[in-house]
Amino acid sequence: MRMGKTFGLVVAALAFAGITACSGNRDAEVTADAVVIVDDGAAVTREITHIAGDVYRFQNNRHFSVFMVTPDGIIVTDPINESAATWLEAELDQMFGVPVRYVIYSHHHGDHASGGAVFADTAVFIGHVNMAAALAQGDASTEAVRPPDTVYTDQMSLSFGGKRVELHYLGRSHSDNMTVLLFPEERVAFAVDFVSVKRLPFRDLSEGYLPDWSDAIAALEALDFDILAPGHGPLGVKQDAVDHRHYLEALTDAVGEGIAAGRSVEELQETILLKAYADWGQYEAWRGENIAGAYRILTEGE
Ligand SMILES: [Zn+2]
Repeated sequence: MRMGKTFGLVVAALAFAGITACSGNRDAEVTADAVVIVDDGAAVTREITHIAGDVYRFQNNRHFSVFMVTPDGIIVTDPINESAATWLEAELDQMFGVPVRYVIYSHHHGDHASGGAVFADTAVFIGHVNMAAALAQGDASTEAVRPPDTVYTDQMSLSFGGKRVELHYLGRSHSDNMTVLLFPEERVAFAVDFVSVKRLPFRDLSEGYLPDWSDAIAALEALDFDILAPGHGPLGVKQDAVDHRHYLEALTDAVGEGIAAGRSVEELQETILLKAYADWGQYEAWRGENIAGAYRILTEGE
């Protein structure tokens, strides 16, 4: 009853178009598509939306995670940061009245994995075995990440509260410790940063691995799901993963050919236009950086 009431409020709020201004900390402003929180003076877009069955999506500005509700507690994924996790914990308590029992990380990067300490009094933390090593190397962005209590290597199945979630390591892609979460009953896959929906990969591919990245997406395609829930941007379907792999393969092939022909990065940025993807998000902003990143990875290796 409690759950229906509060979630109904959120849904009802979404039906209105941009209303009310607000002031002060943590007042909610209702807009067409999100609840805007004013948190210590900074506007933050936060929203909880229903995906399917017991699986929901949580937005904090440009970052997204998912969670699954069971009668015995909640399995959350990336906490994103301390402020976001604090907000989420309060919302979950109000909506569902059960504690967070598991935090499952998509990977070690601080912009997704920070803030877990908020759930430390009730939850067990799980991540890929390589995540512990990546965190141990340490950098400014990972300082706030609570390390996993439990790690796995290839696959892990977690049964809890009458529900099941699968963790899959599909090889190196955006980092060497990416976990895909599969919710078999809801047919939802949560896959962060190595795949997105009609949007180019982030900037210069940072710590990415080529061509392994394409293989990881192919392995994602082999999992049994319908809804793709990425860590950034809109929800999609399995075909969006296929399309993303095709983009990466086109990028990798073109840059690889350019390197073999002795071309410079600048020449490749002028000539590799990837026009089939001109309508994708961040095409103008990140195409050149994607090319520079692929060039770096393919010439420098690991
Ligand atoms: Zn990342």
